Amino acid sequence: MPLNLSPPGLRPLSEVSPSPFIGRICGRPDHPEAARAREILLVRGKFDNLPRGFRAYLLEEETTNAAPQDVYVLGPEQRYLAEGDVIRLDPARKTLTALYRRSSPSNTLLVTERCDNYCLMCSQPPRKKDDSWLLNELEEVIPLIDPETREIGITGGEPSLLGDRLVQLVEMLKQYLPRTAVHILSNGRNFSKHELAHALARVKHPDLMIGIPLYSELAEEHDYVVQAQGAFDETIRGILNLKRARVRVELRFVIHAETYSRLPEFASFVTRNLLFVDHVALMGLELMGFAKTNLRSLWIDPVDYVNELTTAVRVLHRAGLKTSVYNHPLCVLPRELHPFARKSISDWKNVYFNECRDCTQRDACGGFFASAALKRSRGISPFS
Ligand code: SF4
Repeated sequence: MPLNLSPPGLRPLSEVSPSPFIGRICGRPDHPEAARAREILLVRGKFDNLPRGFRAYLLEEETTNAAPQDVYVLGPEQRYLAEGDVIRLDPARKTLTALYRRSSPSNTLLVTERCDNYCLMCSQPPRKKDDSWLLNELEEVIPLIDPETREIGITGGEPSLLGDRLVQLVEMLKQYLPRTAVHILSNGRNFSKHELAHALARVKHPDLMIGIPLYSELAEEHDYVVQAQGAFDETIRGILNLKRARVRVELRFVIHAETYSRLPEFASFVTRNLLFVDHVALMGLELMGFAKTNLRSLWIDPVDYVNELTTAVRVLHRAGLKTSVYNHPLCVLPRELHPFARKSISDWKNVYFNECRDCTQRDACGGFFASAALKRSRGISPFS
């Protein structure tokens, strides 16, 4: 999810480009001249002679010698930018959006906001509009990403609605970032068309995983959660097609008031029918988007579902499935589940509250989504 930092931060000091552009932050004024065209020079201190040839200039302090075009002064809230970050700069709106942050372990690329599900708890509600410009933009962004990046997420909307263009995107990621793991979040339905599953498999990406949500072992319950009739059948067929084509699949189960009670049955279903998946993630709810709108009907304190969660983890683990618990503070989980808990919340929305200040397990604990300020478990209590 890109971080959008709007005015009053960005202040132009010179003539500006007529349309938005993409560039990579560079902190070295002596960067080779021939390679400056896609670089945006970040100037931290006073600097009176800006070197020519960079795509744009971001200054922490005003300079007396502005280059001919695209010189901006950053606001204090934009000074987190660092060498290697990739940004979109929109001069007309005076906005700056970080599309990739080199120091972050959780970079995701948004490929579309369209989706064919309409999940009760969707954190990023879909929009019906042509947003193919997002992909065009990513074709500019990917070559600028550091090839040593450990993992990139692909998210939507529903990425598989892009069809062949998704396959091309994965090909491009393989070409430019051959050592970077790619994780695509998809509802899996479009992979029920085996051509798409096989086209993706033919890319032979060395480290690709498709994360697919499945919310119940009962078709009608899954369809209700995703608000789409027939979705369960398509999702299951999509999972089968992907695995048949040897693409790795992770199952994702978001726990809330409409899903928690069948966690044990879901786990048994997976062990009997989908034992070949590569990972199962049982996930706490993020209170964003529709989850926030439907808070009253979806919220359940994790303390009130730990029994179901523990049973599900036992069933999956005993069957030999790699199992993780995401988005849960350690103190609300029984000790037995601690080895399964992961620090899964993206760094830019990960917070800890006052109770955590003196907790001895803070380093091991994944903490909270920032949105947990709305509602938190009554089980939060620091380890001592
Ligand atoms: S008190 Fe805070 S840091 Fe400690 S386990 Fe609970 S949520 Fe995590």
